[in-house]
Amino acid sequence: MIRGFKRILLKLSGEALMGHEPYGIDPVEATRIAHEVQAAVALGYEVCLVVGGGNIFRGLAAAAKGFDRGSADYMGMLATVMNALAMQNALENIGISTRVQSAIPMPSVCEPYIRRRAERHLEKGRVVIFAAGTGNPFFTTDTGAALRAAEMNCDALLKGTSVDGVYDADPKRVPGARRYDRLSYSKVLADDLKVMDASAVAMCRDNGIPILVFNIREPGTLAAVLRGEGTSTMVT
Ligand code: UDP
Repeated sequence: MIRGFKRILLKLSGEALMGHEPYGIDPVEATRIAHEVQAAVALGYEVCLVVGGGNIFRGLAAAAKGFDRGSADYMGMLATVMNALAMQNALENIGISTRVQSAIPMPSVCEPYIRRRAERHLEKGRVVIFAAGTGNPFFTTDTGAALRAAEMNCDALLKGTSVDGVYDADPKRVPGARRYDRLSYSKVLADDLKVMDASAVAMCRDNGIPILVFNIREPGTLAAVLRGEGTSTMVT
């Protein structure tokens, strides 16, 4: 266990749920990710989860093609609720107790976001899935994740991506690109490194929340990183 860490927030992009599908949710992949979360719970962590919506709908992309940005962003936020319910199903299917809390209240579907209630769920060992980002258009789920990590006093924000950390160039395109073991928030912001969007990085910086970037596609990595063993980049 990383010394001093007790409560974590795991941020996944919506695309993590696509698996080998070109769009939407692959239940097999959601189940695989649920097992990763289960391993973190088994290590004794209290786990918050935020899933993006990019596998279904991105507000900015739709706005670029003529949609009104505000409406498009609300559609994007609704997409994150679908992903949250998918992860809830996948987790509960393997015996992990969960609650979904949405920043946009929709009481027939899930709980509204209530910080103190979320706190109780975590204390009882439930995984709390925060849906609908910040609840506001013109934001992203990265910023929503940083906000919830701060509100819930998380010890770290773990950002699961398709690469094993932050590189000085795109490792999928540039041979010899080098991975950073550690980085400062200010270098991430100054060099515009693609970790999370700038507002999310700034929020983590201002609240002293370390960001660990790791590969969620590589089975076992989340637990390994939490044990202080796996490959990742830590931003502090
Ligand atoms: N979104 C928003 N406000 C938020 C979070 C998300 O308007 O606080 C919308 C925005 O349109 C975004 C979409 O929801 O494009 C999906 O979220 P995001 O792009 O962050 O998902 P990811 O890239 O992580 O899959």
